[in-house]
Amino acid sequence: MPGNKLNIYNTLTRKKENFAPLHPPFVGMYVCGPTVYGDAHLGHARPAITFDIVYRYLLYLGYKVRYVRNITDVGHLENDADEGEDKVEKKARLEKLEPMELVHKYAESYHRNMAMLNVKSPSIEPFASGHIIEQIEMIKKILEHGYAYLSNGSVYFDIDKYKKSHAYGQLSGRNTEDVLTQTRELEGQSEKKSPNDFALWKKASPEHIMRWPSPWSDGFPGWHIECSAMSRRYLGEVFDIHGGGMDLLFPHHECEIAQSVGSGGKEPVRYWMHNNMLTINGQKMGKSLNNFITLDALFTGAHPLLEKAYSPMTIRFYMLQGHYRNPIDFSNSALQDAEKALAKLSSAFLLLQELKWEKPDGIVNEIEMKLENFGKECQAAMDDDFNTPRVIAAMFNVIGVVNDFKNKGFKQGVGQEAFENFRKTFTGYYSEVLGLKTEISAGAGGQFNELITAIVQAREKAKLEKDFKLADAVRNVLLQFGELKDTPQGPVFKQK
Ligand code: ZN
Repeated sequence: MPGNKLNIYNTLTRKKENFAPLHPPFVGMYVCGPTVYGDAHLGHARPAITFDIVYRYLLYLGYKVRYVRNITDVGHLENDADEGEDKVEKKARLEKLEPMELVHKYAESYHRNMAMLNVKSPSIEPFASGHIIEQIEMIKKILEHGYAYLSNGSVYFDIDKYKKSHAYGQLSGRNTEDVLTQTRELEGQSEKKSPNDFALWKKASPEHIMRWPSPWSDGFPGWHIECSAMSRRYLGEVFDIHGGGMDLLFPHHECEIAQSVGSGGKEPVRYWMHNNMLTINGQKMGKSLNNFITLDALFTGAHPLLEKAYSPMTIRFYMLQGHYRNPIDFSNSALQDAEKALAKLSSAFLLLQELKWEKPDGIVNEIEMKLENFGKECQAAMDDDFNTPRVIAAMFNVIGVVNDFKNKGFKQGVGQEAFENFRKTFTGYYSEVLGLKTEISAGAGGQFNELITAIVQAREKAKLEKDFKLADAVRNVLLQFGELKDTPQGPVFKQK
């Protein structure tokens, strides 16, 4: 089977494990998507890019992946708690929109931003509100198995009962006693037998808009049940990979396991994967710190913390320069370094596309070896728990060779097969695995390059927003300065 050398760090067992899917060549993968109640921000980009890399590499290895990434549009209450207003409903009230109008607006914003970051669309993108029936059915099963109870029209998961016969807290390593002492007695929590219990179904208050009929009350599902119900619906009772940000480990993912098992099923996930968090200038991102940067603001530079605009590929490349299990810090200087490094790499990529092999006087084994080792090193890096920084380092190691082909020609060169293999491998890792697109102009330098890049980006954005009139107008401006080609790897501009 392809990729049987792939090792994945499993959060559940806390070690790297050889990846062996249940039904090769098929792979089932579920990733917790965003709750859509505001513009997509930097925090959304990290899990999206992390699991885009996992998805891309599995496809590159030849697996057939069903990638399910949900949209949460109901049941996610303020402070991730069981009390308080629904995040979507609250924002809809503030913006004077129907909740589903708000969801559509911000799901579109998320999709547009993800497309700019070259994040592949998943195979299925289920909405929680479209799967109320599946969620009710699962809650019924949990009640039948005795791991939930009805209280005042709401249904809660009974953690103490579940713990008598099952392990709880294995994924996060947290036990409920820790949580108990930390939990404040919130108003309304008296409905629960224990503060550890979590809502499966909530009875709606009279003013609550988002409500559905159920056997227990007119209400809405709890936040955690949607992912259990939707992953089971599309991937079955047991599936290969479940991903998400580390912030979802507890309670969200811990609850998912309890729900799936408590409804009479098995442990649902074989490999749990979690990406680490990001900070901005060393601080956690938060609205109160005024460092909450939306992706639109990053791409346009419209935020007081930003010295300039950063292109989507700069953001993507910067994230890939770190391993997904390490924290990553965003600062102007780090992004500007990433921008320069990416420009260097992109130039080599573009150059490589154009090189024409010529018959050399002799074959230099040293160069052939270097090119051959490049492919091996890239695969070894990706097989080692998706080590993208190592792939990038391998690419920088061969930039010199590419430049030599250009400057010195192929006289002291490589065989045609070795060269073509190398070009194919480099291109594959650059555009298919790392998902990088060219967005720079070949040949132009300095400020002119930055200006052209900004204009090319403006056209890409207009295209994504389906404003073709604007896209064409921008194109006409660009054509005054040079040649513009749309390639599968992205737009390429060449100065006149
Ligand atoms: Zn989830």
